[in-house]
Amino acid sequence: MSAPSATTHRAAWTPVDLPSGDQPFVRARGATFESTDPATGEVVARVRASEPADVDDAVTAARAAMRGRWRDDGALRGRVLYRYAQALRENADRLAELLTREQGKKLAEARIEVLGAANHAEYYAGQARAIHGRAMALGPNVHGVTLREPVGVVAVITPWNWPLTLLTRSLAPALAAGNAVVVKPASLTPAITIAALEPLAADPELPEGVLACVVGSGGVVGDALVRHPGVDMIAFTGESSTGVDVMKHAAEGLKKVSLELGGKSPNIVFADAPMDKALDGAAAAAFSSTGQICTAGSRLILEREIADEFLTRLAERVEALRVGDGLDPSTDIAPVVSRGQQRAILDYIELGRREGEVVAGGGELAGEAYESGCFVPPTVVSGLAPDSRIVQEEIFGPVLAVQVFDDDDEAIELANCTRFGLAAGLWTSSLQRAWRLGREIEAGTVWINTYNRFYSELEVGGFKESGLGRQQGVVGLEEFTDVKSLNFDGNPTLW
Ligand code: NAD
Repeated sequence: MSAPSATTHRAAWTPVDLPSGDQPFVRARGATFESTDPATGEVVARVRASEPADVDDAVTAARAAMRGRWRDDGALRGRVLYRYAQALRENADRLAELLTREQGKKLAEARIEVLGAANHAEYYAGQARAIHGRAMALGPNVHGVTLREPVGVVAVITPWNWPLTLLTRSLAPALAAGNAVVVKPASLTPAITIAALEPLAADPELPEGVLACVVGSGGVVGDALVRHPGVDMIAFTGESSTGVDVMKHAAEGLKKVSLELGGKSPNIVFADAPMDKALDGAAAAAFSSTGQICTAGSRLILEREIADEFLTRLAERVEALRVGDGLDPSTDIAPVVSRGQQRAILDYIELGRREGEVVAGGGELAGEAYESGCFVPPTVVSGLAPDSRIVQEEIFGPVLAVQVFDDDDEAIELANCTRFGLAAGLWTSSLQRAWRLGREIEAGTVWINTYNRFYSELEVGGFKESGLGRQQGVVGLEEFTDVKSLNFDGNPTLW
């Protein structure tokens, strides 16, 4: 693994104080906390945290906004979201740099993320004008009509790993459906979230109160939002264990929840797959975003016939990856998000050494450039028992567990052997096998001869402990609506 280059690609950064005077949509009057750069430890922003009273203000304003024209005017909502998509695109370079500085990811990936966020906003801008119910004859002179109404005030709680696409894939359909939204970003990514919301909040046609942001810890600010009686729905993306807590607290107020949770996704390679394509796919599935993607293909499941050759060639590729600063264009593997994550992932690598065989990476990253940042070497571990922690637990870092199978039934068994069911990948040239496994694997998304491809049009979500509800696509919009039935009886009496 080669060392990062000198940090000449880095211009000096002056920490920003947030919220600034022209960001009234951020309701925050508490103590200040710092958000730092995972590559250098530098302060990126000093952010004033919200207090429960700020949450209350945001929710009260959102409830008031639900009495205005926002809920009934799809064309207005479409215009606002369309302009938002344009603003994200116009500001892509600036937002991508801030995203890399605060979250750590590679600049090229940060740009893809900003544009992905714009895509969600644009897709749902169109959907805002196409929300339909049904009309039906129920008997002589009796008619029924269903309407899809907004749920009301929606709390959108986001994680730090893809803080913009995971924000807009809930925010945009919630707004398109006519809801008011209070956003709570992860404490590690407040600055990029505030920056990305700013053009939407500044839209001259966005009614007062429809959008607010509260910042701070999940345990205080997130919890106050989830428990607030004025919140009707919680769209949560984060860890499975946090999702369970959110659901418990939401149950006290019988609130609707949408939960996008953790994963430990299998990526299965058959001997009949084109090997070069599958090698690229396996490496990208496990290591892009430094493994910090909920759908990361973190379990590679290889058909025995090709396992040795595949693993040897994969190990060569992994050893050649450059670990370094996300702002350095030559970096393949950017830092993980925090010291806490770094420590946890290095502990898993140690465990991998004891429970299996480390076939790539795993070594110490020596050199000055690595000292101030949260770097972790991309690592491949083989020879693991199906019940080992490396196979079963979400590591959320660049660690790939490898397993081997002999036939299709065993591949399915290994694929389904965890409590998660978020995504899976299949590499095969057999259409029959792709169909059979596509149906048998317990996951919300199964990619065939590709991996981690997302489209605003196509629903995603979790089976088992990976979540509840679906995001993206038409179903992702319907999640943010309630169905109302109107019954018209044209007959003279009820009896
Ligand atoms: P996390 O669960 O720690 O936090 C997610 C959000 O919830 C943050 O904003 C946090 O402040 C807030 N929160 C924490 N405790 C809360 C509480 N008690 N009440 C209300 N809010 C609370 O997750 P994270 O570490 O930010 O993100 C990583 C996790 O997210 C991984 O498990 C990953 O798989 C998952 N994830 C899932 C998807 C998906 O689409 N399924 C996408 C991205 C990330």
